[in-house]
Amino acid sequence: MICPRCNTENDNRTICKKCGYYLYRADAQNRKKMTRGQLAVSDAKIAGKKAGKIFRYIWIGITIIVLSFWLVAGMVFLISMIGG
Ligand SMILES: [Zn+2]
Repeated sequence: MICPRCNTENDNRTICKKCGYYLYRADAQNRKKMTRGQLAVSDAKIAGKKAGKIFRYIWIGITIIVLSFWLVAGMVFLISMIGG
């Protein structure tokens, strides 16, 4: 976010690193000033982020299951190679 006072880029900071100006964030402090439509859009974005997080955990879980399956399959294959 760019500081409206001194035009310094502050990334995700809430206070300007150069002049100390308080930078309002749309998802927190500015919430009360938002209209109902904007609030709905914001809520949808937050819900989307949460869903994305859950999806990522599911994806990690699937990856672990698949990887462990291949690990076991590989071990079984190796054991059968050694045995036979
Ligand atoms: Zn500033």
